[in-house]
Amino acid sequence: MKLECNFFAGSAHILNEETVMDVIREKTKDPEQEDPFYVLDVGDIVQKIKVWKLKLPRVKPFYAVKCNDHPTVLEILAALGTGFDCASKSEIEKILELGVDQSRIIYANPCKPASHLRLAAKLQVSLMTFDNETELHKISAYYPDAKLVIRIRVDAADAQCPLGMKFGVLPEDAEALLVAAQDLGLNVVGVSFHVGSGCQDPSSFYQAIASSKMVFEKAVGLGFSPYLLDIGGGFPGSSSSSLDEFAEPINRALDVFFPEGCGVEIIAEPGRYVVASAFTLATSIVAKREVSDASGSLETIMYYINDGVYGSFNCLLYDHQKVHAVLLKKHDKETHLPCSVWGPTCDGIDHIVSEMSLPRLPCGEWLVWPEMGAYTLVAAGTFNGFPVPKVIVVVPHHTWLYLEEHLGHSFSMASVEVQNEKAFLAKDRHEMAGSLAVTKNAASHYT
Ligand code: PLP
Repeated sequence: MKLECNFFAGSAHILNEETVMDVIREKTKDPEQEDPFYVLDVGDIVQKIKVWKLKLPRVKPFYAVKCNDHPTVLEILAALGTGFDCASKSEIEKILELGVDQSRIIYANPCKPASHLRLAAKLQVSLMTFDNETELHKISAYYPDAKLVIRIRVDAADAQCPLGMKFGVLPEDAEALLVAAQDLGLNVVGVSFHVGSGCQDPSSFYQAIASSKMVFEKAVGLGFSPYLLDIGGGFPGSSSSSLDEFAEPINRALDVFFPEGCGVEIIAEPGRYVVASAFTLATSIVAKREVSDASGSLETIMYYINDGVYGSFNCLLYDHQKVHAVLLKKHDKETHLPCSVWGPTCDGIDHIVSEMSLPRLPCGEWLVWPEMGAYTLVAAGTFNGFPVPKVIVVVPHHTWLYLEEHLGHSFSMASVEVQNEKAFLAKDRHEMAGSLAVTKNAASHYT
């Protein structure tokens, strides 16, 4: 039997004691399971949102859809009541289709195609960012009633993906842009920034909030009534990083520059933080080559796996990620040999890890890549005809109970279905019966 949860576009498997690795072990016992796949742990996302609430109580997260738009991620966040940062009309439509109110969306792309802007106007998604005068003219033409958030440039000293070279007006140039908005009769309601994705310099948030305050004052001086501060993304996604390092300078800066009761609403646009650690990728070795030196002794083993840089590992090229593999089966450390890992396509660039040590593994052995939820699936393609990995959704039982308790009647068990034959996990202890349904307009848990 398995717990069938039709809330999660498709189905989800409820876990009792088992871990994601147990799920992968069970799944890969099936000899027909040859394609790579992800396991999405909904519990991880719920936990991240809980921690966020605890550590950054004044900051409402607007999840950056671009980071991973898997339907379950969006549905669970919609039910938890977060907002959403959308970058395009398709992302806006996706979120509205979930029944999320327009007020929970920020269209956070400072350079929008006119057609997307017209759709935002039609759908009344009014909150949007800008950082240049041309954009103001476009907004004036297509959506003059929009609520505008000026994006300023404040760069972290060190970030995995800096963004400042592409977006954001320098704080010292913001006033001229605000004047241009004023001349066009537009409504500026707030200030935003993004210090860079994968920020390694949490103190940059302090500086950015200080600079935002300065821009707020300029806006007030010009007669605007700004009420929104958007502190962007940049938060760490790994389960080994702590949000504390970021929360400390942010909360301190908010206390100094935007103290409680000042009437300013604070939002953020976390992407990586919400999803990175929730997705684990399982890949298998499809081919291997042992390379020897001139004397005939083994130099390295080249492993070819069934996902690569044209698929999930596009994150190596676009997101500058560092990935690491773990073995599904235990092997003696002493038997490890130097090796490299390659993707399945015929392109030489399809190279995942240049140097690592692994035992001598047979074809068909599985390599597991944890923390693969951010900027992976969303940009993966099917070059050379290799499929994008499917996603298996799992929900730890305690998460399920939490969702039921906190989302109340909107999250309820609807009917019971026993699926012995198609059982996902072999052992009965892994399975429960039932079908769960959630209304899409769940009351906002995140208030
Ligand atoms: N907001 C905007 C405007 C972005 O461009 C990005 C990422 O590029 C994000 C939020 C999400 O950033 P992160 O994944 O670092 O939290």
